[in-house]
Amino acid sequence: MTGDSRVALMSVTLQTPEGVMRGRVEVDTGPMRLAELVPTAFELTNVLVAQAHRREVHAGRHVSCRARCAACCHHMVAISPPEAFYLQDLIDSFEPAHRDEVMSRMSRIAGELERLQMIDELLNPEYVDEAVLPIARKYFLLGMACPFLVDELCSIHLHRPVVCREYNVTSPAELCVDPIANDIDKVPMPLPLTVPLARLTAELSGESPRLIPIPLIPRWIADHQELRHKQWPGLELFRNFIRILGPQAESQY
Ligand code: SF4
Repeated sequence: MTGDSRVALMSVTLQTPEGVMRGRVEVDTGPMRLAELVPTAFELTNVLVAQAHRREVHAGRHVSCRARCAACCHHMVAISPPEAFYLQDLIDSFEPAHRDEVMSRMSRIAGELERLQMIDELLNPEYVDEAVLPIARKYFLLGMACPFLVDELCSIHLHRPVVCREYNVTSPAELCVDPIANDIDKVPMPLPLTVPLARLTAELSGESPRLIPIPLIPRWIADHQELRHKQWPGLELFRNFIRILGPQAESQY
């Protein structure tokens, strides 16, 4: 335990296809909501992304992502339920004018998706797997930017979801403008964390694993208020998450 008796410093060992990764993360030992596990998932993702970047540099490739490119912010960006709760908490913490602006951008996009009768397929649990590609293409062709994109920059950079942290390319940045026509070389991630977070939620809620496109967060949360506020012992939540990462994943004080 650290000086704060509610926080434990946990050692984590992850077996990735590129070798063993060891690190330490702080975990709240008190009652914890799913949203409160997300900063830990961000910490682990940052370590895994850094490992992936080192491998690319070692192989003589360079990540071509740069500020104000934002081509990937026009994709269908689907996140796990804990991240949906986390981002809704974040939006709720904004000044009222800012919060209303973000919520109205989300509502405009959701309204357009509703008009096109795409809501059901976008919230269909099946698309955690291979069914995602046709839906993602259809969404991309609508040309709608993420509601958090402002002046071609991510307005929530420090809080951006796992999938945004993991999305890096080594092909020329200009190819990303049309990912359907062009081959994009994405930096392979040793251990993507979005789906494990969705699986953890499914285990705890008894629902099928699902991802939620960012503009549909408020709509999905409206039907999941109980899950949003439910609490579990923090260490139990964290250990279950680590278990889902694979049989070789471990955590200890
Ligand atoms: S959250 Fe930020 S990085 Fe992710 S898609 Fe939206 S604007 Fe882009």
